Amino acid sequence: MKKNSLSLSLPEWVHDFLEKYEFPLVSPEERMRFVLDLTLQNIERATGGPFGAAVFERNSGKLVSVGVNVVMEQNCSAAHAEMMAIMLAQQELGTHDLGISELPELQLVTSGKMCAMCLGSVVWSGIREVVASAQPEDVENIVGFDEGPAPTDYDQQLEKRGISIIPSFLRKEGCAVLQRYVDLGGVVYNPSRSA
Ligand SMILES: [Zn+2]
Repeated sequence: MKKNSLSLSLPEWVHDFLEKYEFPLVSPEERMRFVLDLTLQNIERATGGPFGAAVFERNSGKLVSVGVNVVMEQNCSAAHAEMMAIMLAQQELGTHDLGISELPELQLVTSGKMCAMCLGSVVWSGIREVVASAQPEDVENIVGFDEGPAPTDYDQQLEKRGISIIPSFLRKEGCAVLQRYVDLGGVVYNPSRSA
C-alpha cells in the first residue's frame, strides 16, 4: 500500500512561542519583528531552514496562522515557511480561497520575499498583501539557497492580480537573521542535480 495521505506540522516550540506575544499586532513593524523572532527561533532551535512567515488580518492585525521552514524535518521540499503559513490559514479558516468576501483581507508577512514556488502559492491563495523582509538575492548571496526563476516584473505580477507587496521591509534585520543561520552552520539543502 502506497501512502495516500500526508500531514505536516510545525515544531512543538511554536505553541509556547506564541504565548509570549499578545495579539493583535497593530503595526507592520510589530508584525515583521514577530516574524523575524519566529524565524530566529527556528534557527536557534535547529528545527528547520532560516525562514518564517505569518498570516494576519490586514486591518486588525489579528494573527491567523504562522509557518516556519520544516523542509528537512518533514521530508517535504514544499514545506517552506510561506507555504506552511498559507496552508495552515486555509485549514484554520476552512477554505482554499483566502480572498473570499466573507473574510477580512489577509496579509502574509514573511522573513524573505517568496521563492518561485511560494510566489505561485501566494497568487493561488487569495492573500491580498505581502510584506517581505530579505530579498531573494539576499537569500542566495548570504545563505546560498537557489530561489528559482522569478519574473523580472515580480512585484508587478502580484499587483496586476490585486495583491499589493511591500518588499525590503526591515531588510537589514531580515539579512541579520539569515546571517545567523550561516554563523551557526545551518544546512543549505539545495536539491541534487545532474552536472
Ligand atoms: Zn518558498
